[in-house]
Amino acid sequence: MIIGVLVELANKNVDRTFDYKVPQSLEKMINIGVRVEVPFGKQRLEGFVLEIKQTSEFENLKEMIRIVDEDIILNEELIKLGQQMKKETLAPLISCYQAMLPKALKAKNKFSISKKYDIFYRLNKQIVSEYKLNISQQKIIDKFENNDCILKEELLAISPSSLKTLVKKEILIEEKKEHYRTSYFDKNNVINKLTSEQEKVVSKVNLEKNEVYLLHGVTGSGKTEVYLKLIQKVIAKKKTAIVLVPEISLTPQMVYRFEQVFGQKIAALHSALSEGEKYDEWRRISRGEVSIVIGARSAIFAPLSNIGIIIIDEEHSESYKQEHNPRYDAKKIAITRSSTHNCPVLMGSATPLLESYARAKKGVYQLLELPNRVNGKSMPSVELIDMNYEMKYSQGHFSQKLLTAIENTIRNKEQVILLLNRRGYSSFVSCKNCSYTIKCPHCDISLTFHKSSNVLRCHYCGYATVFPKDCPSCHEKSLSSIGVGTEKIEEELKRFLPSARVLRMDMDTTSRKGMHRKMISSFKDHEYDILLGTQMVSKGLDFPLVTLVGVINADTTLNIPDFRSSENTFSLLCQVSGRSGRSTKEGKVIIQTFNPTHYAIKLSTNHDYINFYQTEMNIRRKLKYPPYYYICYLKISSVDEQILSQEVLKIKRALERNLKNTIILGPSPCAIFRLKSTLRYGIILKYKKEDILYDTIEKILNHYLHNNKITIDVYFEPTHF
Ligand code: ADP
Ligand code: ZN
Repeated sequence: MIIGVLVELANKNVDRTFDYKVPQSLEKMINIGVRVEVPFGKQRLEGFVLEIKQTSEFENLKEMIRIVDEDIILNEELIKLGQQMKKETLAPLISCYQAMLPKALKAKNKFSISKKYDIFYRLNKQIVSEYKLNISQQKIIDKFENNDCILKEELLAISPSSLKTLVKKEILIEEKKEHYRTSYFDKNNVINKLTSEQEKVVSKVNLEKNEVYLLHGVTGSGKTEVYLKLIQKVIAKKKTAIVLVPEISLTPQMVYRFEQVFGQKIAALHSALSEGEKYDEWRRISRGEVSIVIGARSAIFAPLSNIGIIIIDEEHSESYKQEHNPRYDAKKIAITRSSTHNCPVLMGSATPLLESYARAKKGVYQLLELPNRVNGKSMPSVELIDMNYEMKYSQGHFSQKLLTAIENTIRNKEQVILLLNRRGYSSFVSCKNCSYTIKCPHCDISLTFHKSSNVLRCHYCGYATVFPKDCPSCHEKSLSSIGVGTEKIEEELKRFLPSARVLRMDMDTTSRKGMHRKMISSFKDHEYDILLGTQMVSKGLDFPLVTLVGVINADTTLNIPDFRSSENTFSLLCQVSGRSGRSTKEGKVIIQTFNPTHYAIKLSTNHDYINFYQTEMNIRRKLKYPPYYYICYLKISSVDEQILSQEVLKIKRALERNLKNTIILGPSPCAIFRLKSTLRYGIILKYKKEDILYDTIEKILNHYLHNNKITIDVYFEPTHF
């Protein structure tokens, strides 16, 4: 027996199978998709068996070494998916397969798994009443009112020493569990009785047919209940389901809702799981022990069989496309898998991606709508504040109106969400004397000041340096920080509203494991009045007490030079507005902007997606952007400026010679020309139909295969430039 093995090297030069002989003793265990170890040059490498045959065109074949795992890792469906991914992304085949697998199963040597345990506490109800508790102990005990057990990290903030005492007195029992399931949101284990609008949507989804549905439902329209109901029906048919969410650690409430309803049937592929846990979950899935997989982008590869529905929540999210190679699109993979399994795909959003809505309009997707909030709740009222005018009367970065509204909301014992899409203290630091601005030594980007750690940081490459005492250029003590980030807003809130309890949530405060979830639960428990943060606070959160949403500066995303900046701004404003007034009380939104007449900002105040869609479509048509044209973006980079400028012109000429139906723009320097010490040019291709596009680009990639001075990155249908 001879096998064709695809080895672990993600190198274009070895992007094919190599033949090996199989020792007779192993023949029985060899299958397509099994992971094996083989000699390769002087190394021992892992790889996947993609072919089994009796003869080979090569002579003197080496013998394979061993079989790594007993199970088949890549089933027939995944093997085909990988081949399709390679065609669509032009990435090496092995990297397509690696992208589908948890680390422990990737063909990669020397990976060992260590199990991690979560520690949590259970309340010993029998003896708690016998003790007289102090205030901080009582605070901890109160948390158990609605929960059986609580994760250690969620209790630490209160008082570690009180916790210790409670454990010593055996009022709390410490337990270790391999996999912990949250249980701290309110209990509701059944699906709500659907409203007639939700019912109608559910009835329109044909579970026996391969069809793509786009559910356009305003924020708070109850899309989650629709998902739950459909999955319940799928499970009743003994089928399985995949649910994709933009980023699983940012959507604990959604995941928890699914766990409440479906319990052990669910595998939640959290990014916070250890590699060992991810490996366990993957095996549970492939053994058929779970019916529902919920997770971010890569969960689309979950080895479920008999899939009955694939749901993609917040389908407009950029996160469904992988930024690095293989640059696959989870939505496309979903559609491919749905046709293999003959099941529907349901994509939901309050602000669908323009391309998706256009497809729904054309009838390529079936459009489903939830135009109203659940049970007649109204959309929040939105007010724009023109900061060109209000700046004169403002305190710090707050207009009087916003500040007053925050005060009133807190006085009513309600909660506020504030959005500023920029972390750190200031956007840059410059000298008042000589106007010198401090930049990253590796990138064409000014450094951001982080006051709490007193460092200047590059948000692109991570470079950090201590805030200098005087100007590096003129040596005067006249450096000042300009612009605003979440840290500065937090400081201003402390000054203007000293009694308000402010919780800041951004990448700097949520980097520790479990922090994000903890913050969401303590804000929900009303331990804070204001949740201040970057776009993290705009996503999928459902807090009944939030009646005011404030946007400090709506223009941050608008000023990004990208054809999607209007769309992204509109989406972000609608999404964050949608956090207000979701329960019984009326919601309000205040948006501060220097561009109050811009259509993306103006139309967001009426939550008017349809009007935005039409306006934006007109612009896209005129400028020949998606959905009217497809785009392919080539990024060509090098550390050597001279070589780079020569080669980009050659590449452009090669493209021009071959692509007769394509508009070719550039080469032009990228918006950030120098990044991590490499220089970058971009070429934009716009086309409606270009049959030889992939071939042409592949030829160019092959031409530069052995040229290590030039790197070419290819982005088909990029989410941004
Ligand atoms: P969306 O995802 O569309 O923004 P959600 O699914 O979060 O909206 O629902 C908004 C709120 O309405 C949630 O608090 C949810 O529990 C509640 N809800 C949804 N459907 C129903 C229903 N049929 N009956 C009662 N409450 C519902
Ligand atoms: Zn940098």
